Amino acid sequence: MADEPLKSYHTARIRKYCEDTHRPPFHHIEPGERYLRTALPPNSELGNEHWWTMNICKSCMTPEKGKSNV
Ligand SMILES: [Zn+2]
Repeated sequence: MADEPLKSYHTARIRKYCEDTHRPPFHHIEPGERYLRTALPPNSELGNEHWWTMNICKSCMTPEKGKSNV
């Protein structure tokens, strides 16, 4: 099985929460907008046991977040 890409770009079909921050104010990714989905494999240095995914809206995307840091 091929490795999952850690960062991928999608177009939202339904409204999603932007998960760039877990602090208010929360905002959304509206249908039709591009967003970045990041995934962290299990057992990273953060100690997660399962895949962690995060949706980031276009306005929260920065060159910093968009580039690979592996
Ligand atoms: Zn956002």
